[in-house]
Amino acid sequence: MVASIDPQRGLEFTPFVEALNEQRRALLHCVESMQEEAEQALENRDKSDLYDDTPTSDIDAEQALLLSSIAERRLEAIDEALARIDAGTYGACTRCGVAISPERLAALPATATCMNCAGRRRAAS
Ligand SMILES: [Zn+2]
Repeated sequence: MVASIDPQRGLEFTPFVEALNEQRRALLHCVESMQEEAEQALENRDKSDLYDDTPTSDIDAEQALLLSSIAERRLEAIDEALARIDAGTYGACTRCGVAISPERLAALPATATCMNCAGRRRAAS
């Protein structure tokens, strides 16, 4: 890939691509192990039903599924961020179009919104 430069701010994308790919790998691993854990917990629950004990395995399966769905959502956000890098729109807020601060991008490379819009969304929900 050719080193992409944001024409607006001279932002170097490469470190963000690296950070995003790194997070992507870690999340994929996380999703896999969480789904395995959920399957195992569900299996244990099926077995434990026979003996009617270990009520904790229910929670384990649900927690593992919840964590894997959170990781999957983050993966989607990372894929979208990588797509924005390809499209050349990375670094601009997808809501208001304002340039996201480099500090925010460094902390949250997959973020699609500026601090203002992120704050508004949190306040609204
Ligand atoms: Zn915004």
